[in-house]
Amino acid sequence: MALKPVPVQADISLSDKASFFDSLKENPYFSAGFGLVGIGAGLSLLKRGTAFSYTLLQKRFTVSLEIVSRDKSYDWTLKWINSHLKQRARHISVETFFQKNDKNQRVATSFSFAPSVGVHFFKYKSNWIRAERVRETMVDRNTGSPVETLKLTTLGTKTDIFQDMLLQARQSALSEQSGKTLIYHAGLGGDWGLFGWPKDKRPFKSVVLDDGIAENMKNDILDFLKSSKWYYERGIPYRRGYLLYGPPGCGKTSFITALAATIEHDIAILNLSDRGLTDDRLNVLFARAPLNSIILLEDIDAAFGSRDIVKNNPTAYQGFSPLTLSGLLNALDGVASSEGRIVIMTTNYVDRLDPALIRPGRVDVKQFIGYATRSQIERMFNNFYPNTHHGISHEFANKLIALNRNFSSAQIQGFFMLHKNDPNSALQNCDSYFNKF
Ligand code: ADP
Repeated sequence: MALKPVPVQADISLSDKASFFDSLKENPYFSAGFGLVGIGAGLSLLKRGTAFSYTLLQKRFTVSLEIVSRDKSYDWTLKWINSHLKQRARHISVETFFQKNDKNQRVATSFSFAPSVGVHFFKYKSNWIRAERVRETMVDRNTGSPVETLKLTTLGTKTDIFQDMLLQARQSALSEQSGKTLIYHAGLGGDWGLFGWPKDKRPFKSVVLDDGIAENMKNDILDFLKSSKWYYERGIPYRRGYLLYGPPGCGKTSFITALAATIEHDIAILNLSDRGLTDDRLNVLFARAPLNSIILLEDIDAAFGSRDIVKNNPTAYQGFSPLTLSGLLNALDGVASSEGRIVIMTTNYVDRLDPALIRPGRVDVKQFIGYATRSQIERMFNNFYPNTHHGISHEFANKLIALNRNFSSAQIQGFFMLHKNDPNSALQNCDSYFNKF
C-alpha cells in the first residue's frame, strides 16, 4: 500500500521538528524545567480528574438529604441518629433543659444528647449512612444559635431510605411528646420557637371554676373545632376568640393550659409588651402560628398601658416602631391569619381594654373568672383531699364564706399546701389563716 504524502503546513518540516526536539532534550536546563512542568501539569490533571470522577461517582451512586436547623425535623433527626449511634458515638453534644414541676415546684434537669459537629457513620436497615453535622458562621435570628446543617449520604439511587428514617424520627419524637403540651414563644424574627421541655398535660378537672364555666367553654371550643364547613359555607372567617377576665390567681392561665390539653392543642404565647414586637412582626407571627395551637395573649391591658412608657421615653425606644392597637386589630382580623385559629386573651382589668379589641368577631366569648365561690371552695377541698368525707369540705366552705371576704383559688390552694395530708388540720386552722387577709 502506497503511503500518501503528508502535507507540510508548518514552517518546520517533520525532520526539522525531530532535530529541534532532540536538541531541546539535550539541553539540560530545558529538560529539567520541562520535566517538572510536565509532572506538575500531569498531577494537576490527575487530581482534577480524580475529583471529577469522585463527584461524578458520588452523584451517580449516592443519594443525600440536607436538613437545616430551623426545620422542625432537624432536632428529631439528630436525636434519632444519636439513638442509633449509641454504641459508637464518642463525640456527642448535650443540651440541658430545666423543668419546674407544677405540683411540687421542684426543678428537674434533663439532658438531650445529639451527635456532635463533624462526621458520623451509622447503619440503618443494612445501609451505611454518613451523617455530617456542620455549624455555619451565620446566626439564626430567632434562636440566637448558629445555623447548622445536617447532610445524610448513603449509597444507592433511591431516597426512600431517608423518607423512612424521617418518619421514624418524627414518630419517636411525637411519642415522646404524647401526653405533653408544647409551649411556643415568639422568636426574635417572625418564627416561633419551642419554650423549654414539653409540659405534662394538665388534667381538666384540676382547675376548679365556678359551676358550668369550664364545661361550657370546653363544649364551645370543641363545637368550633368541628364546624369548619359551617364557617366556609357562610363565608365567615374560621376563627374564634375568647377573653378570660377577672382578678389574678383565679385560674385563667391554668384553665387555658388544661383546655389546650383537652383539645390536644399546644400553646403559642405572645407577649405583647415585648419591646421588639412591631405591627409587621405580629402579622407574620399570626400567619405562622404553629399548627394546632392556641395563641395566648396574656395581660393584654398591660401591653397598651406600656405604650405610655414609650411616649414618655422616646430615646429608650429609638429605632423601634412598637406595636400599635391598630396593628393588633389588623393582625386579629388579617387575611394572613391561619384558618381555624383560636386566640385566647387574658386580663385582670377588662375595663381598661379598648372596646374595639373585644368586639364580636375578635372576641366571641367573654368569660369572667372570679374569686372562689362556695361551690368552688368545696370542690377544691375534695380534689385536694380526695378520700375525705364530703361533710368536711362543706364545713370548710361554710367557714370561708362566713368570713365574707374574697379569696382567690391560688390563695386557697396555697393554704392547702400548708396542710398537705391533713384535712382536719386545714379545717381547724382556716379561720385564723384567712382572717389575716
Ligand atoms: P391567673 O391566670 O388567673 O392569674 P393562674 O392560673 O396563674 O391564675 O393561677 C395561679 C396558681 O393558682 C396556679 O398554680 C394554679 O394551679 C392555682 N389556681 C388558681 N386558680 C385555680 C383554680 N380555679 N383551680 C385550681 N387551681 C387554681
